Amino acid sequence: MTLDHSMSTALPILPSDPAASRGASPVTENLLDLAPDAALTRLQGWLGERGEPAYRAAQIFARLWARPVRGFDEITELPKALREALGESFHLSRLTLSTRQRSNDGTEKFLFCMHDGQLIETVAIPDGDRLTLCISSQAGCALQCAFCATGAMGFQRNLLPSEIAGQVRELRLLDPPLLPTNIVFMGMGEPMMNWKGVDPTLSLLNDPRALGIGARHITISTVGVLPGIIALSERPEQFRLAISIHAPSDELRKTLMPVNTKYPLAEVIAAAATFDRRVTFEYVMLGGVNDQAVHATQLAQLARECRAFVNLIPLHPGGSMGFTPSPAPVIATFARALRARGVETAVRRSRGLDIAAACGQLRTERLGRRVPVATEIDGQIDEA
Ligand code: SF4
Repeated sequence: MTLDHSMSTALPILPSDPAASRGASPVTENLLDLAPDAALTRLQGWLGERGEPAYRAAQIFARLWARPVRGFDEITELPKALREALGESFHLSRLTLSTRQRSNDGTEKFLFCMHDGQLIETVAIPDGDRLTLCISSQAGCALQCAFCATGAMGFQRNLLPSEIAGQVRELRLLDPPLLPTNIVFMGMGEPMMNWKGVDPTLSLLNDPRALGIGARHITISTVGVLPGIIALSERPEQFRLAISIHAPSDELRKTLMPVNTKYPLAEVIAAAATFDRRVTFEYVMLGGVNDQAVHATQLAQLARECRAFVNLIPLHPGGSMGFTPSPAPVIATFARALRARGVETAVRRSRGLDIAAACGQLRTERLGRRVPVATEIDGQIDEA
Protein backbone atom coordinates (compact mmCIF):
# COMPACT_ATOMS: atom_id res chain seq x y z
CA MET A 1 0.00 0.00 0.00
CA THR A 2 1.32 3.41 -0.85
CA LEU A 3 0.59 6.19 1.59
CA ASP A 4 -0.07 9.49 -0.12
CA HIS A 5 1.60 12.17 1.97
CA SER A 6 2.73 13.61 -1.25
CA MET A 7 4.08 16.58 -3.05
CA SER A 8 6.75 17.31 -5.53
CA THR A 9 9.66 19.55 -6.39
CA ALA A 10 12.60 19.78 -8.73
CA LEU A 11 14.88 16.81 -8.34
CA PRO A 12 18.62 16.35 -8.31
CA ILE A 13 20.29 15.11 -11.45
CA LEU A 14 20.05 11.37 -11.89
CA PRO A 15 23.47 9.71 -12.10
CA SER A 16 23.87 8.29 -15.58
CA ASP A 17 24.12 4.80 -14.11
CA PRO A 18 22.27 4.21 -10.84
CA ALA A 19 24.19 0.98 -10.52
CA ALA A 20 27.46 2.87 -10.45
CA SER A 21 27.18 3.53 -6.73
CA ARG A 22 26.38 -0.02 -5.79
CA GLY A 23 28.85 -2.67 -4.88
CA ALA A 24 28.75 -6.27 -5.99
CA SER A 25 26.62 -8.43 -3.72
CA PRO A 26 28.97 -10.56 -1.59
CA VAL A 27 28.49 -14.31 -1.77
CA THR A 28 28.77 -14.81 1.99
CA GLU A 29 25.68 -15.18 4.21
CA ASN A 30 23.95 -11.93 5.12
CA LEU A 31 23.22 -11.93 8.86
CA LEU A 32 20.70 -9.12 8.36
CA ASP A 33 18.30 -11.45 6.55
CA LEU A 34 17.80 -13.62 9.62
CA ALA A 35 15.14 -13.08 12.30
CA PRO A 36 16.63 -12.63 15.80
CA ASP A 37 16.38 -16.24 17.00
CA ALA A 38 17.69 -17.60 13.71
CA ALA A 39 20.60 -15.16 13.70
CA LEU A 40 21.55 -15.99 17.28
CA THR A 41 21.37 -19.73 16.61
CA ARG A 42 23.50 -19.32 13.50
CA LEU A 43 26.07 -17.23 15.37
CA GLN A 44 26.19 -19.63 18.32
CA GLY A 45 26.84 -22.53 15.96
CA TRP A 46 29.55 -20.60 14.15
CA LEU A 47 31.21 -19.51 17.39
CA GLY A 48 31.02 -23.07 18.76
CA GLU A 49 32.87 -24.38 15.69
CA ARG A 50 35.68 -21.97 16.53
CA GLY A 51 35.79 -22.70 20.26
CA GLU A 52 34.58 -19.17 21.03
CA PRO A 53 32.31 -18.51 24.06
CA ALA A 54 28.56 -18.54 23.36
CA TYR A 55 28.01 -15.11 24.93
CA ARG A 56 29.74 -13.58 21.92
CA ALA A 57 26.60 -14.32 19.86
CA ALA A 58 24.48 -11.78 21.78
CA GLN A 59 27.40 -9.36 21.69
CA ILE A 60 27.60 -9.58 17.90
CA PHE A 61 23.82 -9.54 17.40
CA ALA A 62 23.53 -6.32 19.43
CA ARG A 63 25.72 -4.61 16.84
CA LEU A 64 23.54 -5.69 13.90
CA TRP A 65 20.40 -3.72 14.81
CA ALA A 66 20.25 -2.25 18.31
CA ARG A 67 23.60 -0.42 18.12
CA PRO A 68 24.31 -0.96 14.45
CA VAL A 69 27.72 -0.93 12.84
CA ARG A 70 28.62 -0.39 9.20
CA GLY A 71 30.84 -3.46 9.18
CA PHE A 72 32.29 -6.10 11.49
CA ASP A 73 35.54 -4.13 11.83
CA GLU A 74 33.59 -1.55 13.88
CA ILE A 75 32.74 -4.10 16.60
CA THR A 76 35.77 -3.11 18.56
CA GLU A 77 34.67 -4.99 21.67
CA LEU A 78 35.58 -8.19 19.78
CA PRO A 79 39.15 -9.40 19.28
CA LYS A 80 40.51 -8.37 15.89
CA ALA A 81 40.93 -11.99 14.73
CA LEU A 82 37.27 -12.70 15.48
CA ARG A 83 36.15 -9.62 13.56
CA GLU A 84 38.17 -10.76 10.58
CA ALA A 85 36.76 -14.28 10.80
CA LEU A 86 33.22 -12.86 10.89
CA GLY A 87 33.96 -10.90 7.74
CA GLU A 88 35.15 -14.06 5.98
CA SER A 89 31.95 -15.99 6.83
CA PHE A 90 29.25 -13.33 6.76
CA HIS A 91 28.45 -9.89 5.47
CA LEU A 92 26.24 -7.01 6.52
CA SER A 93 24.47 -5.55 3.50
CA ARG A 94 24.02 -1.80 3.09
CA LEU A 95 21.47 0.25 1.19
CA THR A 96 23.04 3.12 -0.73
CA LEU A 97 21.38 6.41 0.08
CA SER A 98 20.83 7.98 -3.31
CA THR A 99 18.72 11.04 -2.49
CA ARG A 100 17.52 12.73 0.69
CA GLN A 101 14.78 15.35 0.49
CA ARG A 102 13.69 17.48 3.40
CA SER A 103 10.33 19.23 3.50
CA ASN A 104 9.71 22.50 5.27
CA ASP A 105 7.34 20.67 7.65
CA GLY A 106 10.16 18.33 8.71
CA THR A 107 9.09 15.34 6.63
CA GLU A 108 12.05 13.67 4.98
CA LYS A 109 12.15 11.32 2.06
CA PHE A 110 14.97 8.90 1.30
CA LEU A 111 15.65 7.10 -1.97
CA PHE A 112 17.75 3.97 -1.47
CA CYS A 113 19.56 2.01 -4.16
CA MET A 114 19.71 -1.78 -3.69
CA HIS A 115 22.70 -3.94 -4.66
CA ASP A 116 21.02 -4.71 -8.00
CA GLY A 117 20.18 -1.10 -8.81
CA GLN A 118 16.53 -1.23 -7.71
CA LEU A 119 15.35 1.99 -6.08
CA ILE A 120 13.04 2.11 -3.07
CA GLU A 121 11.68 4.91 -0.94
CA THR A 122 11.38 5.56 2.78
CA VAL A 123 9.64 8.55 4.37
CA ALA A 124 10.27 9.88 7.90
CA ILE A 125 7.39 11.91 9.35
CA PRO A 126 8.02 13.77 12.62
CA ASP A 127 5.03 14.64 14.78
CA GLY A 128 5.73 15.99 18.26
CA ASP A 129 7.85 13.42 20.06
CA ARG A 130 6.97 10.73 17.50
CA LEU A 131 8.88 9.87 14.37
CA THR A 132 6.94 7.62 12.01
CA LEU A 133 8.81 5.80 9.31
CA CYS A 134 6.93 4.77 6.18
CA ILE A 135 8.85 1.81 4.73
CA SER A 136 8.77 -0.11 1.45
CA SER A 137 8.30 -3.87 1.19
CA GLN A 138 8.63 -4.37 -2.57
CA ALA A 139 10.42 -2.64 -5.44
CA GLY A 140 7.42 -1.61 -7.51
CA CYS A 141 4.07 -3.36 -7.13
CA ALA A 142 2.00 -5.72 -9.24
CA LEU A 143 -1.41 -4.63 -8.03
CA GLN A 144 -1.84 -1.53 -10.19
CA CYS A 145 -4.21 0.58 -8.13
CA ALA A 146 -5.34 3.35 -10.47
CA PHE A 147 -4.24 6.24 -8.23
CA CYS A 148 -0.80 4.89 -7.31
CA ALA A 149 2.60 5.90 -8.73
CA THR A 150 4.18 2.67 -7.48
CA GLY A 151 1.53 0.55 -9.19
CA ALA A 152 2.16 2.42 -12.44
CA MET A 153 5.81 1.39 -12.47
CA GLY A 154 4.98 -2.34 -12.26
CA PHE A 155 6.47 -5.06 -10.08
CA GLN A 156 10.25 -5.36 -9.92
CA ARG A 157 10.92 -7.73 -7.00
CA ASN A 158 10.23 -8.52 -3.37
CA LEU A 159 12.53 -6.98 -0.79
CA LEU A 160 14.50 -9.10 1.66
CA PRO A 161 14.32 -8.57 5.45
CA SER A 162 17.75 -6.91 5.22
CA GLU A 163 16.24 -4.43 2.77
CA ILE A 164 12.94 -3.79 4.61
CA ALA A 165 14.24 -3.56 8.18
CA GLY A 166 17.44 -2.30 6.57
CA GLN A 167 15.68 0.99 5.81
CA VAL A 168 15.34 1.54 9.56
CA ARG A 169 18.92 0.42 10.15
CA GLU A 170 20.29 2.85 7.57
CA LEU A 171 18.53 5.77 9.23
CA ARG A 172 19.98 4.71 12.57
CA LEU A 173 23.42 4.83 10.96
CA LEU A 174 23.02 8.46 9.88
CA ASP A 175 24.87 11.16 11.79
CA PRO A 176 22.86 12.28 13.68
CA PRO A 177 20.79 9.09 13.67
CA LEU A 178 17.04 9.04 13.00
CA LEU A 179 15.33 6.84 15.59
CA PRO A 180 11.75 6.03 14.59
CA THR A 181 9.12 5.45 17.25
CA ASN A 182 6.52 4.13 14.79
CA ILE A 183 6.63 2.08 11.59
CA VAL A 184 4.01 1.93 8.85
CA PHE A 185 4.22 -0.44 5.89
CA MET A 186 2.78 2.15 3.56
CA GLY A 187 5.73 2.70 1.27
CA MET A 188 6.26 0.99 -2.06
CA GLY A 189 4.65 -2.40 -2.52
CA GLU A 190 1.95 -4.53 -0.96
CA PRO A 191 3.46 -6.12 2.18
CA MET A 192 1.08 -9.08 2.21
CA MET A 193 2.32 -10.06 -1.27
CA ASN A 194 5.78 -10.42 0.31
CA TRP A 195 4.87 -12.13 3.56
CA LYS A 196 8.02 -14.28 3.36
CA GLY A 197 10.07 -11.11 3.67
CA VAL A 198 7.72 -9.18 5.95
CA ASP A 199 7.24 -11.95 8.55
CA PRO A 200 10.89 -12.04 9.78
CA THR A 201 11.09 -8.28 9.32
CA LEU A 202 8.33 -7.81 11.91
CA SER A 203 10.44 -9.78 14.39
CA LEU A 204 13.48 -7.63 13.63
CA LEU A 205 11.49 -4.44 14.09
CA ASN A 206 9.81 -5.55 17.30
CA ASP A 207 12.32 -7.73 19.17
CA PRO A 208 13.97 -5.77 22.01
CA ARG A 209 17.29 -7.43 21.08
CA ALA A 210 16.97 -5.94 17.57
CA LEU A 211 15.15 -2.65 16.79
CA GLY A 212 12.80 -2.83 19.79
CA ILE A 213 9.81 -0.93 18.38
CA GLY A 214 6.57 -1.83 20.19
CA ALA A 215 4.16 -3.99 18.19
CA ARG A 216 1.35 -1.48 18.73
CA HIS A 217 3.58 1.07 17.01
CA ILE A 218 3.98 -1.06 13.88
CA THR A 219 1.19 -0.95 11.27
CA ILE A 220 0.94 -3.24 8.28
CA SER A 221 -1.18 -1.75 5.55
CA THR A 222 -2.77 -3.95 2.90
CA VAL A 223 -5.27 -3.60 0.09
CA GLY A 224 -6.92 -6.72 1.50
CA VAL A 225 -4.73 -9.69 0.57
CA LEU A 226 -6.51 -12.30 2.67
CA PRO A 227 -3.75 -14.90 3.22
CA GLY A 228 -1.55 -12.10 4.60
CA ILE A 229 -4.26 -10.83 6.94
CA ILE A 230 -4.73 -14.36 8.27
CA ALA A 231 -0.97 -14.85 8.70
CA LEU A 232 -0.70 -11.55 10.57
CA SER A 233 -3.62 -12.44 12.83
CA GLU A 234 -1.81 -15.66 13.77
CA ARG A 235 1.19 -13.81 15.13
CA PRO A 236 0.98 -13.32 18.90
CA GLU A 237 2.22 -9.72 18.89
CA GLN A 238 -0.21 -6.81 18.81
CA PHE A 239 0.80 -5.52 15.38
CA ARG A 240 -1.74 -3.16 13.88
CA LEU A 241 -3.60 -3.77 10.62
CA ALA A 242 -4.71 -1.06 8.21
CA ILE A 243 -6.83 -1.90 5.18
CA SER A 244 -6.86 0.34 2.14
CA ILE A 245 -10.54 0.43 1.25
CA HIS A 246 -10.60 3.51 -1.02
CA ALA A 247 -13.98 2.53 -2.51
CA PRO A 248 -16.97 1.28 -0.52
CA SER A 249 -18.58 -0.94 -3.19
CA ASP A 250 -17.21 -3.80 -5.30
CA GLU A 251 -18.39 -2.07 -8.44
CA LEU A 252 -16.35 1.09 -7.81
CA ARG A 253 -13.47 -0.66 -6.08
CA LYS A 254 -12.86 -2.95 -9.04
CA THR A 255 -12.28 0.08 -11.24
CA LEU A 256 -9.76 1.58 -8.82
CA MET A 257 -8.15 -1.54 -7.39
CA PRO A 258 -7.97 -4.63 -9.63
CA VAL A 259 -7.13 -6.77 -6.55
CA ASN A 260 -10.81 -6.48 -5.59
CA THR A 261 -11.64 -9.11 -8.22
CA LYS A 262 -9.61 -11.69 -6.30
CA TYR A 263 -10.45 -10.47 -2.80
CA PRO A 264 -13.92 -8.86 -2.86
CA LEU A 265 -14.94 -6.39 -0.18
CA ALA A 266 -17.24 -8.79 1.68
CA GLU A 267 -14.37 -11.25 2.26
CA VAL A 268 -11.97 -8.49 3.29
CA ILE A 269 -14.47 -7.07 5.78
CA ALA A 270 -15.18 -10.55 7.16
CA ALA A 271 -11.43 -11.08 7.71
CA ALA A 272 -11.17 -7.67 9.38
CA ALA A 273 -14.10 -8.52 11.66
CA THR A 274 -12.31 -11.62 12.94
CA PHE A 275 -9.01 -9.79 13.48
CA ASP A 276 -8.62 -9.60 17.25
CA ARG A 277 -7.34 -6.02 17.22
CA ARG A 278 -8.92 -2.81 16.05
CA VAL A 279 -8.56 -2.33 12.30
CA THR A 280 -8.07 0.98 10.52
CA PHE A 281 -9.56 1.74 7.11
CA GLU A 282 -7.49 3.97 4.84
CA TYR A 283 -9.63 5.94 2.39
CA VAL A 284 -8.01 8.31 -0.10
CA MET A 285 -10.40 11.08 -1.14
CA LEU A 286 -10.70 11.21 -4.95
CA GLY A 287 -12.68 14.20 -6.14
CA GLY A 288 -16.02 13.22 -7.72
CA VAL A 289 -15.07 9.53 -7.60
CA ASN A 290 -15.52 8.23 -4.04
CA ASP A 291 -16.41 11.34 -2.02
CA GLN A 292 -20.19 11.57 -2.40
CA ALA A 293 -22.86 11.11 0.29
CA VAL A 294 -23.72 7.63 -0.96
CA HIS A 295 -20.10 6.58 -0.53
CA ALA A 296 -20.06 7.84 3.05
CA THR A 297 -23.18 5.78 3.79
CA GLN A 298 -21.65 2.65 2.24
CA LEU A 299 -18.30 3.17 3.97
CA ALA A 300 -19.95 3.69 7.35
CA GLN A 301 -21.77 0.39 6.93
CA LEU A 302 -18.51 -1.46 6.18
CA ALA A 303 -16.71 0.21 9.08
CA ARG A 304 -19.48 -0.69 11.52
CA GLU A 305 -19.39 -4.33 10.41
CA CYS A 306 -15.81 -4.69 11.64
CA ARG A 307 -15.63 -1.82 14.16
CA ALA A 308 -13.00 -0.07 12.04
CA PHE A 309 -11.51 3.34 12.60
CA VAL A 310 -11.49 5.40 9.38
CA ASN A 311 -8.61 7.56 8.19
CA LEU A 312 -9.55 9.92 5.37
CA ILE A 313 -6.50 10.79 3.28
CA PRO A 314 -6.47 13.97 1.20
CA LEU A 315 -5.03 13.27 -2.24
CA HIS A 316 -2.24 15.58 -3.29
CA PRO A 317 -1.97 16.53 -6.98
CA GLY A 318 1.66 15.44 -6.96
CA GLY A 319 0.66 11.82 -6.55
CA SER A 320 -2.72 11.89 -8.17
CA MET A 321 -2.18 9.87 -11.39
CA GLY A 322 -4.81 12.00 -13.10
CA PHE A 323 -7.29 12.10 -10.21
CA THR A 324 -8.50 15.33 -8.61
CA PRO A 325 -8.25 15.89 -4.87
CA SER A 326 -11.56 16.25 -3.03
CA PRO A 327 -11.93 19.87 -1.83
CA ALA A 328 -11.45 20.36 1.91
CA PRO A 329 -15.17 21.15 2.56
CA VAL A 330 -16.15 17.91 0.79
CA ILE A 331 -13.76 15.94 2.99
CA ALA A 332 -15.14 17.66 6.09
CA THR A 333 -18.73 16.83 5.08
CA PHE A 334 -17.72 13.23 4.39
CA ALA A 335 -16.08 12.94 7.80
CA ARG A 336 -19.17 14.38 9.50
CA ALA A 337 -21.38 11.86 7.69
CA LEU A 338 -19.24 8.98 8.95
CA ARG A 339 -19.18 10.28 12.51
CA ALA A 340 -22.96 10.81 12.43
CA ARG A 341 -23.22 7.09 11.75
CA GLY A 342 -21.11 6.23 14.76
CA VAL A 343 -17.82 5.68 12.93
CA GLU A 344 -14.67 7.10 14.51
CA THR A 345 -12.99 9.12 11.77
CA ALA A 346 -9.84 11.19 11.37
CA VAL A 347 -8.76 13.36 8.47
CA ARG A 348 -5.06 12.98 7.86
CA ARG A 349 -2.90 15.96 7.21
CA SER A 350 -0.83 15.90 4.05
CA ARG A 351 2.82 15.97 4.99
CA GLY A 352 5.87 17.10 3.08
CA LEU A 353 3.89 19.07 0.56
CA ASP A 354 7.02 20.54 -0.99
CA ILE A 355 8.88 17.32 -1.76
CA ALA A 356 7.89 14.20 -3.69
CA ALA A 357 6.63 12.16 -0.76
CA ALA A 358 3.92 9.97 -2.22
CA CYS A 359 5.69 6.64 -2.19
CA GLY A 360 6.69 5.68 -5.70
CA GLN A 361 6.65 9.29 -6.77
CA LEU A 362 10.27 10.18 -6.10
CA ARG A 363 11.57 7.01 -7.74
CA THR A 364 9.38 7.59 -10.76
CA GLU A 365 10.51 11.18 -11.11
CA ARG A 366 14.11 10.18 -10.63
CA LEU A 367 13.79 7.77 -13.51
CA GLY A 368 12.29 10.48 -15.65
CA ARG A 369 8.91 8.92 -16.33
CA ARG A 370 6.87 11.59 -14.69
CA VAL A 371 6.74 15.37 -14.80
CA PRO A 372 7.23 16.90 -11.34
CA VAL A 373 4.33 19.03 -10.17
CA ALA A 374 5.22 22.56 -9.14
CA THR A 375 4.28 23.51 -5.60
CA GLU A 376 4.34 26.81 -3.79
CA ILE A 377 6.90 25.79 -1.21
CA ASP A 378 10.39 24.69 -2.04
CA GLY A 379 11.80 21.73 -0.17
CA GLN A 380 15.43 21.16 0.56
CA ILE A 381 17.17 18.43 -1.35
CA ASP A 382 20.42 16.79 -0.36
CA GLU A 383 22.18 14.58 -2.82
CA ALA A 384 23.68 11.80 -0.76
S1 SF4 B 1 -0.50 -0.38 -6.52
FE1 SF4 B 1 0.53 -1.52 -4.88
S2 SF4 B 1 1.72 0.01 -3.75
FE2 SF4 B 1 0.17 1.12 -4.94
S3 SF4 B 1 -1.62 1.35 -3.55
FE3 SF4 B 1 -1.95 -0.52 -4.78
S4 SF4 B 1 -1.09 -2.16 -3.48
FE4 SF4 B 1 -0.26 -0.23 -2.66
